[in-house]
Amino acid sequence: MTRFYSIRFRLTATFLAIILAVMIIISIFLLNTLERYYMNNLEDTLARSGFLAADFVVGQLRGQVDAVRLSSLAEDVSRQAQARVLFANQQGIVVGDSIRVGGLLNQALDNEQVDNALDGNVSSTTGYSERIQHQVIQVAVPVMEENESVTGVVFLSASLEEVYRTLDDIRRFLFLATLLAMAVVGGGSVALARRFTGPLESLTAAARRMAEGKLDQHIEVSSADEIGRLAEQFNIMAKRLNYYTSNLKKFAADVAHEVRTPLTTMSLLTKALKEHEMEPEQQKEFIDDLDGELDRLTALVNDLLELSKLEKSEVELEIVALNRLLADMVGEYQYRFAHSGLGLYDQIPEEDYLILGAPLQLRQVISNLLDNALNYTEAGGSVTVSLYLDENEAVTEIRDTGCGIPEEDQSYIFERFFRVDRARSREGGGTGLGLAIVSEIITRHGGRVWVESEVGSGSSFYFALPLADSQDVIKN
Ligand code: ADP
Repeated sequence: MTRFYSIRFRLTATFLAIILAVMIIISIFLLNTLERYYMNNLEDTLARSGFLAADFVVGQLRGQVDAVRLSSLAEDVSRQAQARVLFANQQGIVVGDSIRVGGLLNQALDNEQVDNALDGNVSSTTGYSERIQHQVIQVAVPVMEENESVTGVVFLSASLEEVYRTLDDIRRFLFLATLLAMAVVGGGSVALARRFTGPLESLTAAARRMAEGKLDQHIEVSSADEIGRLAEQFNIMAKRLNYYTSNLKKFAADVAHEVRTPLTTMSLLTKALKEHEMEPEQQKEFIDDLDGELDRLTALVNDLLELSKLEKSEVELEIVALNRLLADMVGEYQYRFAHSGLGLYDQIPEEDYLILGAPLQLRQVISNLLDNALNYTEAGGSVTVSLYLDENEAVTEIRDTGCGIPEEDQSYIFERFFRVDRARSREGGGTGLGLAIVSEIITRHGGRVWVESEVGSGSSFYFALPLADSQDVIKN
């Protein structure tokens, strides 16, 4: 049933119907025109022969008529005109017939054409002849004296067998031509439809396989037309979907892995607390460890929530003076840095650097970078926060004198859960998501984030944000 709905079937059926309709119209028009042409031609020829014969017989219809002479004259004309020829007198009585035996000599010719001719007019008709058992055309021509008085009639009757045979031949030829055209067009449209629907069928099959869960689909793009472009877009879509799905799977596996470590530790600690007698001192130590693991889990869940919130939400942006935000945060972190034996300095201009952003998210960025600087720099080191202009961007740099990041890891550190030194990250309460959040927020602000680092000397984390233009400032 579905094949009747297929493009191939419908295209072929439409082409065939068009060809059939066109050929039928052409055939009807052509056959009608030809029939009319043949009839007129035949009528003209007969009338001309009739007039010629009338000129011959006009003298002989005066007074005493000689039927034998007139009949032999009729015979002569009949041979030339390829028609039966009759001469009738003023009363419509046949006085000469090209058919000698069984002719109509001395009988009255009583028909409309003869009456018309006796009135001085030429007229013709077609009809069936019992005698020759065929269609005939009959023409009656008046025989006129010089004074225009009608003295008789020349009546000619010719068989239409030849005409109809020719028309039948043409009809047969048109029928065969129609069949041939339908075969050629039918074959052509099947091939054309296959060319169109072939790629569509591969697309459908690939989409079906994707629906079944096999996402690594790729189809050959063989043309540059609309279907080719559709196939190209399908390949891009399949690739992206495959990429996102495998990313999602990897992310889910990573999350499970991250959660399992603190859970295992907590389970061991709880079992030990339950099953072993302990000094209150030791018990407190175990409970502190449990608390630490709980904090880690909470931090992880918070960071995960933060990430998913970022992916979902559209935040209202407002004009933010980045220099003031940075200065505020440096102030807030002074105590924590001093407490860890680190110096926190700033090179932030007084002049306002206005950008379009979400203040809470920008605070999150700065605090993640400062937390890292604090975490990966030994006591005695220092961290400097600077802000400067670079063309139309406000660039923030957070430079530390910490452990640095090996070059081969630098391109991965903005990925989720990537850590250079897992133990150190854990010690500092890191979740492995801090820089992923930074990167997500800055990208969503239309900015860029990057790192320059050398092992042993320290790292510089940069983020550049486009300055707000005057339009943004006026609107806000
Ligand atoms: P974490 O929670 O582990 O700090 P991040 O996403 O913030 O996760 O950072 C990813 C990794 O990048 C860290 O584990 C660490 O190895 C490295 N890193 C980040 N900031 C610094 C820094 N300032 N100095 C040295 N290494 C850093």
